[in-house]
Amino acid sequence: MKKSLSILSIILLLAGCSSSKDSVVNDAKQIENEKLEATLNIPAENFNFKAYLPTFMFHYIKNVPSDSPDQVGYKLSFSPEKLEQFLSFFQENNIKTLTFWDLKNILENKKELPEKAVILTFDDGHIDHYHNAFQILKKYNMRGVFFIIVNKPDQDQNYATWDQIQEMSQNGQEIASHTMSHLNLTNLSEAEIKYELERSKEIIEEKIGRPVISFCYPAGKYDERVLKTAKENYLFARTTNPGKDFSVLERYQIPTVRIFPTTGIASLKIWFEVK
Ligand SMILES: [Zn+2]
Repeated sequence: MKKSLSILSIILLLAGCSSSKDSVVNDAKQIENEKLEATLNIPAENFNFKAYLPTFMFHYIKNVPSDSPDQVGYKLSFSPEKLEQFLSFFQENNIKTLTFWDLKNILENKKELPEKAVILTFDDGHIDHYHNAFQILKKYNMRGVFFIIVNKPDQDQNYATWDQIQEMSQNGQEIASHTMSHLNLTNLSEAEIKYELERSKEIIEEKIGRPVISFCYPAGKYDERVLKTAKENYLFARTTNPGKDFSVLERYQIPTVRIFPTTGIASLKIWFEVK
């Protein structure tokens, strides 16, 4: 056994000595494999999988005073200090932060559903997602899902750049699509819906070099046509409908828990049954 292991190590060592050209080829191959894996192969016993799995929705991760004249901005913001308190609470109480990639692996029986888990989603790709949310997640070695509006990076300084998004992806954060331009999809033609969903996925995949499997409806708006296009392009889609359960049958209408600037640890204790 020991001998065969050492032979294996030699083979691995030799493989590691290959030229940089080969490693580029290997990277391309790995990405290709990931693409092949970006389908959902749910075994029959999980067809009706349903679990308590709150998916939190955050927008800005920055401090906006409660008496700010921008009340919409205030209501969509959450302070970095409070986000850190949340992550610290998750750590202390063994609540795991999952991505939709984890969920895919759980549904395919490749990973076990943790006893307590949460999905942290961040909408719109704001610059503070890179400067605040990502840095705090990294500190706790936790994961989030970032829904990017593709027309924003490198075009609008209020949004994370493609370099920053790549860095987040390489550090284990899930990068997902929030369309090209954040329009109300129910007002669009079928061709326009297809463009918003399909093209945004393609561009993000080109930028980060890995498949995009999840999607978020701008302002939570969708109809039958939008749902159909989401199913053709993604494995999961999040809505703004309130709820805390994840169900396979409703995986294109995943409900969410809207996090308000005033949401605190007391709510987390209730949601995760922590005394
Ligand atoms: Zn949005």
